[in-house]
Amino acid sequence: MRPSQLNILFQQTTTLAGVGGKTAALLKKLCGLYLIDLLFHLPSNVAHRPRITHFSQLSNGALGTIRLRITAHEAPPKKRRGSPYRIIGECIDFPAEIELLFFNYHAEYLSERLAEGSVVAVSGKMETYGGRIKILHPDYMTSDWTNIPEYEPIYPLTAGITSKGLAKSVRIALDSLPILPEWLDQPFLVQKGWPDWKTALYSAHKPQTESDVSCLSPARARLAYDELLANQLALALIRRMQRKKAGKQLPVSQKLVPQLLNGLPFDLTRAQQRVIKEIADDLSASGQMMRLLQGDVGSGKTVVALMALLQAVESGHQGVLMAPTDILARQHYESIGKLLKDIPVRTALLTAREKGKTRKEILSALAAGDIDILIGTHAVFTDEVTYHSLGIAVVDEQHKFGVQQRLALCRKESGVNLLIMTATPIPRTLALTNFGDLDLSVLDEKPANRQPIDTRVLSLKKAEELAIKLHDKIAKSESKMQVYWVCPVIDESQKSDLAAAQHRYESLQKIFADRVGLVHGQMKGPEKDAVMNRFLAGDLDVLVATTVIEVGVDVPNATVMVIEQAERFGLAGLHQLRGRVGRGGEKSICLLLYGEPLTQTARARLKIMRETENGFTIAEEDLRLRGAGDILGVRQSGLMFFQLADLSCQSDLLYTATQDAKMILNTDPQLKSARGQALRYLLYLFRKDEAIINGLN
Ligand code: ADP
Ligand code: MG
Repeated sequence: MRPSQLNILFQQTTTLAGVGGKTAALLKKLCGLYLIDLLFHLPSNVAHRPRITHFSQLSNGALGTIRLRITAHEAPPKKRRGSPYRIIGECIDFPAEIELLFFNYHAEYLSERLAEGSVVAVSGKMETYGGRIKILHPDYMTSDWTNIPEYEPIYPLTAGITSKGLAKSVRIALDSLPILPEWLDQPFLVQKGWPDWKTALYSAHKPQTESDVSCLSPARARLAYDELLANQLALALIRRMQRKKAGKQLPVSQKLVPQLLNGLPFDLTRAQQRVIKEIADDLSASGQMMRLLQGDVGSGKTVVALMALLQAVESGHQGVLMAPTDILARQHYESIGKLLKDIPVRTALLTAREKGKTRKEILSALAAGDIDILIGTHAVFTDEVTYHSLGIAVVDEQHKFGVQQRLALCRKESGVNLLIMTATPIPRTLALTNFGDLDLSVLDEKPANRQPIDTRVLSLKKAEELAIKLHDKIAKSESKMQVYWVCPVIDESQKSDLAAAQHRYESLQKIFADRVGLVHGQMKGPEKDAVMNRFLAGDLDVLVATTVIEVGVDVPNATVMVIEQAERFGLAGLHQLRGRVGRGGEKSICLLLYGEPLTQTARARLKIMRETENGFTIAEEDLRLRGAGDILGVRQSGLMFFQLADLSCQSDLLYTATQDAKMILNTDPQLKSARGQALRYLLYLFRKDEAIINGLN
């Protein structure tokens, strides 16, 4: 149970004075439902309102606070609506004339608040011209300028919420902060020069200089460290719990795997051999396997997965392979079917498209144990699906399969061994934070027959010209040559994506006639398949696509990848797309078309694509250039992001936190010591209840 001192932090923001249902709804969107979320929503910047006592301190357009004596009110003539109400005054601290302008005003209110002859302090953005100072709608008007803050936090906002309003709510929330026991090591705190938790939170919300909002400030570093430590400690607890659980033990295959190996048309890479052994050993041991297989596009993960599946089948269990999309599930089903052609193993396909009688038959065969390997989409883990005895689950290309989903699957299928595969090169930092509970196998080598991909960057203006050149080349080429043409993500509404792709498709039809096809996310499954199959069969030279082809599909003759408005894609996405070509023996090329004008960051990112084909380098660079919270797809992909930590500049803290978590559980496995008890507070603070409940006695 959560310690009662923390309850106040888990009250909804509506309990704050001045926060009604409407504001709370906006806050929920912005940062979350509870006080703790509001408190963890830190300022992104700081505004300085210096008190101006001399003309030389003024700079045009800057914020400032100034004292003045009101000398005149000038209401606009009644007829001239839209003209401002003007208040004139003279500066107290130095000779200058001041003009305050109001467009939406209550004349009565103004003449009372800023009565002629009175001395007031006002603050706002100051425009200076010819010895005159002009302020449009001052932010503050008060009799005493010490009431006006000199430094003000600026918060990331959403429409309907102001920084000032947010700051006020935060101040109230800060007043309810409980005093909590210190969970960090005292000498470590001293060494780092970090404040205690409460002080850190206070000062993070009261920045005085720009360096106070930088991620290097002691207060922010402390808060980030807390979050990272909570995360690493929770993962370590979950990992320990999984290790202890009995898994279905699957002896190393003596028959099926050797049979598969014999029939393979290629030699395994050394990396594949190593990883296959790691997995086989893990499966044959008594604990539950929880493993992440990381391997760049084209590194040959499928065959590795198949061997693991066969190990389960040979020992009398079933295996399941889950793919992220229909297309990919179908392709896996077919390519695995081919690999198993001479091996007596029963496979089946299950996606949303298997309906009615077919579906019923699959489900009952599965429950009876008449299917050995099931391949499908997320349908394979829904409640209607009952396995006879599931020995291993392989999850392909699914970042959304996070800690929570993993725990849920293990609850549903007790003792199941889990292999998660990803081609998205996950930077070490993100791997630690999202998959820290898993063992890691890495395919760091590609099959030898792969040719390097020639990557070029050119202006979108050249698209027509490029299409004509490709057409000529295809006509002249002796070997079959096919082109992917990927259209960009315009915004979240798929409609405009589709419009762009449609448009390109039509213009390419003028050049390629009926040898160009179009696939997009809004097509029905069978329609999509029909186009994909024509492309696979070589009946189409060009396939125009929205990013539906992003993961998986394997078309050896496709040697040209064109990506429109490449600057709109994340580097990881570009890398994935590029991995669609270069799969056969022919030389491949990837053309990145950029829309103008190109920002400097965008230019740098495209340059990385040109310079390297190493997915890990690309991912690390992407992270560096964009910041962890922003790596395209982090949010959509379900990879966790942090409220307080910023991995683009605080990754060193992550490594320390990982070590710290290990050390803590070594010396105090049940978190019973004084520090251990304090650490429980930390875990609850960051909502790691599940880790405490399951991971501690
Ligand atoms: P990914 O890791 O991207 O899932 P796949 O498993 O789809 O890669 O493999 C890509 C292609 O490479 C497939 O056609 C597969 O048959 C082939 N392949 C896999 N391993 C090897 C190897 N050792 N040598 C040559 N080709 C291989
Ligand atoms: Mg794959």
